[in-house]
Amino acid sequence: MAEPDLLVVGGGPAGLATAIEARMAGLSATVVDRRRPPIDGACGEGLMPGGVARLLRLGVEIEPSEARVFHGIRYLDGETRVEARFAIGAGVGVRRTALHRSLARRAEALGAELLWGVTVRGLVDGGIVTDAGVLRGRVLAAADGRLSPVRRWAGIPMAGPVRPRFGIRRHYRLAPWTDLVEVYWADHAEAYVTPVGPEMVGVAVLTRSTPLDLDRAIHRIPALARRLEGARPASRDRGAGPFGQRAARVVSDRVALVGDAAGSLDPITGEGLSVAFAQAEALVRTLVDPAAEGYPEAHRRIMRLPRRVTGLLLVAEARPALRRLVVRSLAAAPRLFAGIVDAVGSAGIGTVRRAGSAAART
Ligand SMILES: Cc1cc2nc3c(=O)[nH]c(=O)nc-3n(C[C@H](O)[C@H](O)[C@H](O)COP(=O)(O)OP(=O)(O)OC[C@H]3O[C@@H](n4cnc5c(N)ncnc54)[C@H](O)[C@@H]3O)c2cc1C
Repeated sequence: MAEPDLLVVGGGPAGLATAIEARMAGLSATVVDRRRPPIDGACGEGLMPGGVARLLRLGVEIEPSEARVFHGIRYLDGETRVEARFAIGAGVGVRRTALHRSLARRAEALGAELLWGVTVRGLVDGGIVTDAGVLRGRVLAAADGRLSPVRRWAGIPMAGPVRPRFGIRRHYRLAPWTDLVEVYWADHAEAYVTPVGPEMVGVAVLTRSTPLDLDRAIHRIPALARRLEGARPASRDRGAGPFGQRAARVVSDRVALVGDAAGSLDPITGEGLSVAFAQAEALVRTLVDPAAEGYPEAHRRIMRLPRRVTGLLLVAEARPALRRLVVRSLAAAPRLFAGIVDAVGSAGIGTVRRAGSAAART
């Protein structure tokens, strides 16, 4: 097997986006994943406008029957509610399996080599040890998720506190009742409701309480429990966490970390996929453009705003009285809320603005 320019461990959203970017830039790419497609995952499945714009730029097409466009965010906290519509572009709620199928199809069509059902067991000089033998590549990208074994083998430590927050999600066969992503705030948890198809909504709950019990969490949010009453679950529950830790550095020798492998952002602002796509683009640019900023600098830039907003929201989330005050204040200042929703949701859209406008038309 010829040695590819880029050898990617992990064929989730970050790994496949990296391979697509590589092929679009004229580099050869091989992706190795221990699972087989379509790969599912614990996720709220809301792709913000900035992420949608990036996906379109990559030429990834999502079947309309497997997705649903959303136009903004609504916060609900007891009797208080505030909502904002995106000023630029639109978001897309999409089942992870559908997103994975579309990414894999595009990567394959561009000529990336996709090796499914192959587990990576360790690193060797210039390559990886898999249960199908040793594979080598000019550059190794670790896109192997939050627990990233490659990161560990490369000797990259984690930095920052682990936040004791966990997530669990389930789908319901139910026609979406709004074109917004709803966030139900409560003292024990927040619940994110994302339309992901004409007859399907996804519910993801983030909480500090374990063991994760989705039914109990929903039952304690009466407004949401009423919405879901009688609806049939359409997937098995998937959980993940804790979140928040980040890699002390994102490159080491010939390994670069992409997506959750570089640190899993708490999903409170729903940006994991968008930042993974931005990181994939930045990494490949550093490989083909000698004038491009270095990957560590680009990674820091991409993560700056999401980390700040996430940090602020987590301060409020941990203090119920403060959280209620914040949501009430945002309800009293809807333009401020709209500004925040736009800044977060449309982050990076400027660089792919034309594609973003196309998203708004879908
Ligand atoms: C509850 C919850 C809700 C979320 N909601 C949202 C949301 O609404 N919007 C959003 O944008 N983001 C959301 N996120 C974040 C988003 O899901 C992640 O950021 C995203 O999945 C990261 O993708 P990834 O490709 O980096 O990692 P992963 O999706 O974890 O992919 C890693 C891949 O690596 C493979 N792998 C691992 N180890 C090996 C090995 N040894 N050998 C071979 N392959 C290996 C795995 O099989 C897997 O396919 C949410 C996350 C959670 C947990």
